[in-house]
Amino acid sequence: MALDTAWATSWVTASAAVVAENRARLSSLDRDIGDGDHGENLDRGFSAVVAKLDGLADTATPADVLKLAATTLISTVGGASGPLLGTAYLRAGGAVAGQGTLDGAAIVAMLTAARDGIVHRGKAEPGDKTMIDAWTPAVDAAAQALADGAGETAILVAAADAAAVGAVATEPLVARKGRASYLGERAIGHRDPGAESSSLILRAAAVAAGG
Ligand code: ADP
Ligand code: MG
Repeated sequence: MALDTAWATSWVTASAAVVAENRARLSSLDRDIGDGDHGENLDRGFSAVVAKLDGLADTATPADVLKLAATTLISTVGGASGPLLGTAYLRAGGAVAGQGTLDGAAIVAMLTAARDGIVHRGKAEPGDKTMIDAWTPAVDAAAQALADGAGETAILVAAADAAAVGAVATEPLVARKGRASYLGERAIGHRDPGAESSSLILRAAAVAAGG
């Protein structure tokens, strides 16, 4: 199934739903190694994005949806995650600009651009215990799935599966970026909230595609 604007809006709507559902859990993860606001931050941001979807033109492309998400998240999410995820959506939209439907190669390009945007903005490397530890395995798995001949939905499922594993794999790490980096070894044993929310968002992309 090639992915169109309806998929992009479903992705945003499903992300908002899963973030709302997990709001308390995400903030609880952030309370352990940060300031306890991650769930509230993202819930506020994604609710604002959903509220703006109705204003999109009938001719809107997937990139238009991603850019709307980007600007809204940047302006409504208070914490570090707002500009980081906002940049991800901005770059993701840029990677698929003008395309009415997205094939597998476009999806891999979109996910890669999103991850690269987060790295550009936050300078985190894999293993720093950030959302990058969900995004990077997701991008790698998506690229491998494309190379193996997988279709669009299967590519997104592979990305989501890898992101989930990546989020769990942040637990034994010491944080080197963000608030959790102030804790040193006390961050060990706690899952990074941004990696967990990114895993949920990437799962929403697969679910929106019927995966
Ligand atoms: P804040 O830390 O400002 O309260 P949030 O709680 O909303 O913001 O988001 C925290 C999450 O942001 C962390 O769990 C981590 O995944 C992510 N994060 C923080 N700094 C960086 C960075 N430099 N690069 C990538 N991700 C980061
Ligand atoms: Mg926080």
